[in-house]
Parts: sequence; C-alpha cells; structure tokens
Amino acid sequence: MTELAIPAPVTPSVAITGSTQRFPVHRIYCVGRNYVEHAKEMGSDPQRDPPVFFMKPADAVVPSEALIAYPPGTANFHHEIELVVAIGRGGRNIAPTSALEHIFGYAAGNDLTRRDLQYLAKQNSTPWDAAKGFDASAPIGAIRPAAAGHVTSGRIWLSVNGALRQEADVSAMIWGVPAVIAHLSGLFTLQPGDLIYTGTPAGVGALRPGDRVEGGIEGLDVLRNTIGPAT
Ligand code: MN
Repeated sequence: MTELAIPAPVTPSVAITGSTQRFPVHRIYCVGRNYVEHAKEMGSDPQRDPPVFFMKPADAVVPSEALIAYPPGTANFHHEIELVVAIGRGGRNIAPTSALEHIFGYAAGNDLTRRDLQYLAKQNSTPWDAAKGFDASAPIGAIRPAAAGHVTSGRIWLSVNGALRQEADVSAMIWGVPAVIAHLSGLFTLQPGDLIYTGTPAGVGALRPGDRVEGGIEGLDVLRNTIGPAT
C-alpha cells in the first residue's frame, strides 16, 4: 500500500439529477469560441478557426446555490453559460459517430473568466490559466444522465439579477458535441470523470458582488449562484 506523506486531496464531485450518487471529476476541458456571435464579440473569425481547448483544475467545480467570492486579481469578472458534457467512458481518437456512447450526462455550467487577465494573456501571448483556471471558476449544476436523452438542441440562457444577458440555442454551436469529443480525444486521452465545457453564446458580461446569477439549458437543472464580496 502506498503511504502518502500528506492526506490525499479529496476527489471533487458533482451532483447527479435524481440520484444520491455523485459524479467524480477527473479533468475539466473547455472549448473557446464555439458560437459564431460570441466569437465575433471576442474579435475572432469563427469560420476560419479550429476548436480551441483550455483547461481548469478539477477542484474549480462549484455547486448550484453556492456563494462565490469575487476573485482576486480582476476588475472585469465575467460569466459564460455553457452546456457541460460529462464523460462516462474514456477513449482516444473517438469518431464523431460513436462519441455519444462516451457521454455520462449533461449539465449547465458557468465558465467564469477574469476577462481583463484574458485580454492581457492574448495581447502578450501568455497562458490563460490565471484568466480561466482560478479557484471556484467552474460552477456546475446537477448532471442529467444521458439515459434521459442527449442534448442536441434547446435554449441556453443566463440572467443576472433577473435581467437576461445570454440567450441562444445549443444547436448553434460551431463544433457540436460529437465533433468536440472527436477533436479533444485526438489531443488527450479522455477518461471517465472528465467534464467538457462546450463554449458560450454571445452576451458575456461583468459580475459584481451581490449579483444573483441564474443560467440553464432546456431540460437540465438551473444553475444558481450568488457572487459574494472579495475575500
Ligand atoms: Mn467559455
């Protein structure tokens, strides 16, 4: 038996709709610029660019209803509502035609972003980690098992203090879920427990302490969080 020098970190996990079991998180992958209107608002040409991937640490997950402290190091803290795919069966070089077989379920997630640090990283060609992979940067609602149906279309939305900020249909994704899984599994060996945040539609914007953030995808549990003061 391996003897650990310090206590092993706790495995981060996510609630599952209609179950007392939880989904253990292995890695968090994210897709950038996956809706035409959002790619445009970020100043990129969606027709030309292949899918862009980045990661967040597994322990960045935050459940629905949690209070999220305003993060340090930013004055432009943004929401990005996204469809999240939970991988139940791993693999490499997965064909788009068999990609759905690897999916455990779906959830609504928020790819929280320090937008000012992301602009700096883009400007200076430096890594995105501080912009995207900070503590509590991956709120996620309960995962609905794929047995209840795959998510190929449906309204995706986000509101702040009751005012609608983002609204689109997940069918508008440039790279759909099977294509995302195919591309990603050509770069990384997917493992059970991986989460894939599949990109946000247009309408991203700033959050402030005290804001109530609600977002969802048709048929999935609504994700609700409140932004707390900076700590
Ligand atoms: Mn995103």
